[in-house]
Amino acid sequence: MTASRVLVLNSGSSSVKYQLLDMRDRSRLAMGLVERIGEGSSRLTHTPLTGSGAEPREREERIADHAAALKAVAEELSADGLGLDSPELAAIGHRVVHGGLKFTEPTVVTDEVLKEIQRLVPVAPLHNPANITGIRTAQALRPDLPQVAVFDTAFHTTMPESAARYAIDVATADRHRVRRYGFHGTSHAFVSRAAAKLLGKAPEDVNVIVLHLGNGASASAVRGGRCVDTSMGLTPLEGLVMGTRAGDADPAVIFHLARVGDMGIDEIDDLLNKKSGLVGLCGDNDMREIRRRIDAGDEAASLAFDIYIHRLKKYIGAYYAVLGRVDAVVFTAGVGENAASVREAAVAGLEELGLAVDGALNSVRSDEPRLISPEYARVAVAVVPTDEELEIANQTYALVSDAEKA
Ligand code: ADP
Repeated sequence: MTASRVLVLNSGSSSVKYQLLDMRDRSRLAMGLVERIGEGSSRLTHTPLTGSGAEPREREERIADHAAALKAVAEELSADGLGLDSPELAAIGHRVVHGGLKFTEPTVVTDEVLKEIQRLVPVAPLHNPANITGIRTAQALRPDLPQVAVFDTAFHTTMPESAARYAIDVATADRHRVRRYGFHGTSHAFVSRAAAKLLGKAPEDVNVIVLHLGNGASASAVRGGRCVDTSMGLTPLEGLVMGTRAGDADPAVIFHLARVGDMGIDEIDDLLNKKSGLVGLCGDNDMREIRRRIDAGDEAASLAFDIYIHRLKKYIGAYYAVLGRVDAVVFTAGVGENAASVREAAVAGLEELGLAVDGALNSVRSDEPRLISPEYARVAVAVVPTDEELEIANQTYALVSDAEKA
């Protein structure tokens, strides 16, 4: 197909992140972020990546809504000769957080698809409304162009019922669509495939445990390229200790806080999603700051780190058992790619499982996928930088190219 550019949009409730890619060589032409949409003063940071200097440009002004945000983005792109009215633009790819069970693949957006994403709002109240707004806004800007939804949940739809179901009354669960969906799927898909490549094998031939450790964090067990378990559940709250989310906790904590602590349901929701995790344990959610405090002898930071690692280790063990045979444990996202101390601590003491980290390899800083396990280790330990935007662009472009061929 002649048009070769894909715009990737990740629309949050008050922000839009974007990247424009040229799919001929998968190069990035521009990227940016609009923050604080609808607030008093918004900010657009735009970085052109063509030409010599990749200097970010900033605009501080009130941007009332997503439509105004996309208009401002379009202006910045036009200024670089990359306008969204260009015939070079093949499609717009949207990150959509919740695709439920229906969307197992990237999907060209139709009215029916939008309705279904809308129907999923009760299980993704924070994310799907913003994603819908992003899609509608992009449709209004380029009604002639395919808009493709790429779902965070899609990669996890291969989970067997034994992993996806909670052990609660089936009729109640089904009526309210209560089950484990999993998130960060685009990253788990990208990283598990890249890990197979790093091992010189086909994805079908390897079993990997992917640890996506960013501000949000999730683990997944991937057998032969298909997800068989993941740590996030009905919402992104379940599982690992995260920047501000508690991860696993006895559900009775909620009853207890309501009955004994006299807290309301929204207050508890806020507590578990925004005031827990690392921030709740020690006041900081940035792993760099936590390490600095630990080095200065701070006990709260030290305990927060230990709780974070303990949970991570439990998931490595659990997914090892789920998979039976593991070829690689792979670290990714902000913490996973950068925090050597987290990687070292998570794997420490697991030699009997064939897992070990080589100190020298682990301390190398690089943007490339790399092995950090010693040669003798039975199981590879790897760092693979994630690239969710590239994965969304790839899936979007593949879908519209196939449609054109058909
Ligand atoms: P998000 O979930 O917001 O996409 P990222 O994957 O970008 O998050 O990860 C952000 C987190 O990565 C930060 O909060 C910080 O804890 C961690 N991080 C980033 N750089 C480093 C670093 N050099 N060392 C340790 N941790 C880092």
